[in-house]
Amino acid sequence: MRCGQCGGKLGLIVHRYWDLRFCRRACKRSYLEHVERDSERLRRWFAYLAPGHSESQARRRAPRKIDPSMEDQFLKESAAWSE
Ligand SMILES: [Zn+2]
Repeated sequence: MRCGQCGGKLGLIVHRYWDLRFCRRACKRSYLEHVERDSERLRRWFAYLAPGHSESQARRRAPRKIDPSMEDQFLKESAAWSE
């Protein structure tokens, strides 16, 4: 097993997050910061697509309707991220 952030070998102390392992707390932290940025980006993206939310913008940016199962998937994922 290698660190999920820097790819370094894991030592005696392993910092875990879900099924990921990190060699240092700093690695775990920077990984989580990266994930948070991603989830923030996705949240904004969904705000554009969500019906009723800045509708004129959404129509301009996303002419297609969103697949509801896609939204479910997103909600599940964002719930996991916020833990
Ligand atoms: Zn590391």
